[in-house]
Amino acid sequence: MSFVPRLATDKQCTGCFACIDVCNKNAINIVEHYDGHRYVEIDKSKCVGCGMCEQICPVVSNFEYQQSEYSDFYAAWAKNRTHRKTSASGGAFYAMASSVIEQGGVVFGAKIEEPCYVHHQAIETKEELSCLQGSKYTHSNASGNYKLALKYLKEGRMVLFSGTGCQIAGLLSFLKDRTYKGNLVTVDLICGGIPSRILIDKFISQAPYKVKRVLSFRTKEIGWKPRGFRYNLKVEDENGKIYDYANKNNLITTGFSLELTNRYSCYDCPFVGKNRKSDFTIGDYWGCIKYDEEHFDGISLIIAHTDKARQFLSSLRDSLFYDKADMNLAISHNHRLVTGHSIQQYFLERKLLAFLSSQLSDSTFSKIYANTFSNKSPWILLKVIRKVYGIVVNIIDRIGHKQ
Ligand SMILES: Cc1cc2nc3c(=O)[nH]c(=O)nc-3n(C[C@H](O)[C@H](O)[C@H](O)COP(=O)(O)OP(=O)(O)OC[C@H]3O[C@@H](n4cnc5c(N)ncnc54)[C@H](O)[C@@H]3O)c2cc1C
Repeated sequence: MSFVPRLATDKQCTGCFACIDVCNKNAINIVEHYDGHRYVEIDKSKCVGCGMCEQICPVVSNFEYQQSEYSDFYAAWAKNRTHRKTSASGGAFYAMASSVIEQGGVVFGAKIEEPCYVHHQAIETKEELSCLQGSKYTHSNASGNYKLALKYLKEGRMVLFSGTGCQIAGLLSFLKDRTYKGNLVTVDLICGGIPSRILIDKFISQAPYKVKRVLSFRTKEIGWKPRGFRYNLKVEDENGKIYDYANKNNLITTGFSLELTNRYSCYDCPFVGKNRKSDFTIGDYWGCIKYDEEHFDGISLIIAHTDKARQFLSSLRDSLFYDKADMNLAISHNHRLVTGHSIQQYFLERKLLAFLSSQLSDSTFSKIYANTFSNKSPWILLKVIRKVYGIVVNIIDRIGHKQ
């Protein structure tokens, strides 16, 4: 092999794994690094140097994702209360997905396996749809699914593909922007970043019981709130007993919120923005001040980027309530919609993650990465240092952007 493809570096790679699907020689493997994130590695003995992986990688090919003439913001919720309650936000995804299935289509999304492994899966019946519902705060392996989506599209079937912005960019780049007579509907998430697998592995190994499975990363049993919402992890042990972490800091959900273990690419995400190439962006309508009586069950934010999306949305009137949302309000409460840059990338806790995870005791590791210390302990200093460091880095960042 003379030509060696130049794939994204570990700092840039989003883990969309579209490169794996485009490689006809199976020359790209997934490897887990010490920081608990999965990356790709080219097997030089199989690579023939065709360069396809380099061409479709949405990072190194500078794939343009911030593209749409105008985007409409909506507050929305599924009219079926059961489906809405089992969804993370207002059930926008369920309403869209069930309509595609009714039309004989296929839905792709993230499914969780015991105890807590997440991968993308194609679903063809409404009965199976529940396994794609809910937010899983860990990386979903989507390799194999881009190829499968292409197969269904070539058969003339409708396909709804959901995932993070980087996964939708991977899909669109893999399909070379073809929509197969408009049969493809893409739905990306507002994404706060993908935390390291180390958090889940340590949570499972430290639990004082044998974890059978993570049931949910957030439930709405105590309601959804447009402000001050707390994630509440639910875990089942091997005897069927359920553990609720609604008010307890823990490595999985507190670890996710602290953003100290994210993939490096998530700290400089190029797939953010209020205008995107996907058909829809969905998330929580944080900050929503209308529809008080609907808050408890959850409200979705839907952003329709394309005419196809606007048409599709109007076909959902029977199953989905939607109404114009305040774009500025939505953005001001959900900065991750438009801001890819995150200061946590400069924190020592992120830089030393691989080292600290192997050197620290479980309890010290949890104190740092899940704030599991009492507010009276000297560890409170850590919170203060993080705050001050955050402010300083933010100021430096702003000055840098002005120049
Ligand atoms: C890692 C992550 C970070 C997020 N950060 C934010 C945020 O900062 N602000 C915000 O408003 N919303 C965020 N969301 C989105 C939000 O949590 C809901 O997923 C979204 O509002 C859809 O909710 P729903 O009620 O329509 O449907 P649900 O049924 O709850 O949504 C399920 C959808 O989420 C997808 N999904 C779930 N887990 C993953 C995963 N690990 N990788 C890829 N796709 C996944 C499924 O494929 C499906 O499309 C995040 C989601 C994830 C997974």
